[in-house]
Amino acid sequence: MLTTIGLALLVGFALTQIANVATTVYLHRSLAHRAVTLSRPLVMMNRVVVWLLTGIRPRQWAAVHRKHHAFTDEEADPHSPLQLGWVRVQLTNVMLYRRVARDEEQVKKFARDLPQTTLDRILFDHALIGLGLTTAVVIAFLGVWAGVLAVAFHFVLYLSLSAAVNAVAHTFGKRPFQNSATNLQWLALLTCGEGLHNNHHAAPTSARFSLDPGQIDPGWWFIRAAQSAHQATIRHETPVLATPRST
Ligand SMILES: [Zn+2]
Ligand SMILES: [Zn+2]
Repeated sequence: MLTTIGLALLVGFALTQIANVATTVYLHRSLAHRAVTLSRPLVMMNRVVVWLLTGIRPRQWAAVHRKHHAFTDEEADPHSPLQLGWVRVQLTNVMLYRRVARDEEQVKKFARDLPQTTLDRILFDHALIGLGLTTAVVIAFLGVWAGVLAVAFHFVLYLSLSAAVNAVAHTFGKRPFQNSATNLQWLALLTCGEGLHNNHHAAPTSARFSLDPGQIDPGWWFIRAAQSAHQATIRHETPVLATPRST
């Protein structure tokens, strides 16, 4: 029994990590910030992963995130711990996200360059089909109880880690650059680099989040590997700073 639970948790963790790679490399660094341009096969692969493992509509994610950068920790920030308290952002991040994501006017305003495509209409906008398919496949491999546990663990972990980037990484941690976000290496290890959030707000168009020696950004390794395979083009090799270093 313990082995089954352990295997279910391991599968759930692996699903979250795959979702995290697609979130940071595709949704965040490529789509929202254009820090890296991915080849068409890589874009399609990421779109499928996002559909199967998160149910997120990429244009909505990009719009909410761009609004966060436009109004960071100001009143209009969709999920600011400075405005709402970090516990509220941590626990209600999904609701805060949906408030903007479901507002078509705001999505149009912040993601004008990402219109709904035919493929979105017939497939990728149907989150329940993607998530249902994933659940069915995991259950087919692990059995009903272990399968449900694996999928449930994946969702709780993925949503908690995404919330932590917005809540914890705007509250606790180091601020080597002059912005309200923070760097947390432990969170970066669990989120494929997203925890180096102070660096990211300092250089939002940089495909690399690790800016100082000793910092680890696994998302950057995937981008470098894709670049070596001629599947990705990086916008700037040297990060362009939007906020200066703290003194
Ligand atoms: Zn932020
Ligand atoms: Zn960003």
